[in-house]
Amino acid sequence: MASSTNRNSGTDYSSFANWNPVSSCRWNHEKIIGAGKHKFVKTGTYENYPGRANSKACVVKLLKTGANFSSECFHDDVRCAEAALPYIEKFHEYFRSAFPKFYPGGQTFIKVNVPTVWQQINDHNGNRGQKILVEPLIPNFTKFNSNSGKADARCKIAQALSHFSYHASDGREILCDLQGGRDGKNYVLSDVVVMSADKKYGITDLGLPGIENFCAHHVCNCFCSRLWKTWSGARRHYQPEMCTTITLDVEHIPVPLSARKYQRVFPSDIMFTQKSIKDRFHDGNTLLYTALTLARQEIQKSDIPMITVVQCKDGTLRSLDNRRLAVFRLLGMTRKIHKIKVEIVPVSRVADEYNRKFDGGNGEEIHVRQSNQTIGRYEWTTKFRQLAEIKNTYPSQSPQDAALALLLGSLTDE
Ligand SMILES: [Zn+2]
Repeated sequence: MASSTNRNSGTDYSSFANWNPVSSCRWNHEKIIGAGKHKFVKTGTYENYPGRANSKACVVKLLKTGANFSSECFHDDVRCAEAALPYIEKFHEYFRSAFPKFYPGGQTFIKVNVPTVWQQINDHNGNRGQKILVEPLIPNFTKFNSNSGKADARCKIAQALSHFSYHASDGREILCDLQGGRDGKNYVLSDVVVMSADKKYGITDLGLPGIENFCAHHVCNCFCSRLWKTWSGARRHYQPEMCTTITLDVEHIPVPLSARKYQRVFPSDIMFTQKSIKDRFHDGNTLLYTALTLARQEIQKSDIPMITVVQCKDGTLRSLDNRRLAVFRLLGMTRKIHKIKVEIVPVSRVADEYNRKFDGGNGEEIHVRQSNQTIGRYEWTTKFRQLAEIKNTYPSQSPQDAALALLLGSLTDE
């Protein structure tokens, strides 16, 4: 059992905070639901909770015996959560004006768990006085991105929120390690990290190199504004991992970037992993519209986000991004682009995605579903009605790089 010693008072941003509803809880020592390198995570229940039969669930974090830093790091977790609140508030403002149609009822839809540091007061194992971190339990917990730059592209609003925080802080901070789940009408984020140029948020704050690295991996999507600040030429410093990287681990965790493999190849030399694709991307744009939009722009190769490619045992390169490859094939055979830069990853690193997508075809061509169109390696193996239209489309006079980047950012297969 534990009790509050420093219940935070509300702030101006309290409507975006998800607080512990009461100030004491008990937990089951056996029920470990997660463990980091230095922490155990256990579930517990709030005591004297006025709701359903004292059964409101909470999460309790305890340091492992022998962890080589003190429970003071719990206060960093609290400070990160509190630092996130102004970003969440401003992001709602942005969202309300930019996407009035999508804005659900005008009310708050993202909250942040603000944990509190409590002390054990009733323990038979001599742990009395030991600090713990307590916050409400979030159901259906999912991780959206990490502080080392890994991002789940399907969770577009979360990726846009991280980019927004970079913009709103004028490049001094970035809110990341976004994870959480739906609790009623809200998405509640938990265990967020703020990285800062001053490295003031503790062991998960990777400082300026962390911010630069995050920017280097971030791909804008339809919820990012083209007006937001970006870090052009940002360098990658860490191998993106979904787990949280802490500074004490930095010398061990990141894979050196020299271990990453890039190659410039013709789109016609990359094979598909599927026999057919839909005609539209998730943003609703068709393959043709996307190809034409790209053909009209003066494409800088650096604007094109990399396709992830797997090298099979026989040396064949296969793309995991089939619709994007289809568009690049169309642009390649109409001589709008030449080689594209791809990242080659071992099958083992993307085994789940590869096995889910690969349907046994030779990958030379891909059929566009519900049409009689087929995109092959070359013009003469391609049946795409508007190929001539793409061929006759040239860069417009005023290229809008930002719009292009925005469009490219939304081209994912997921
Ligand atoms: Zn963005």
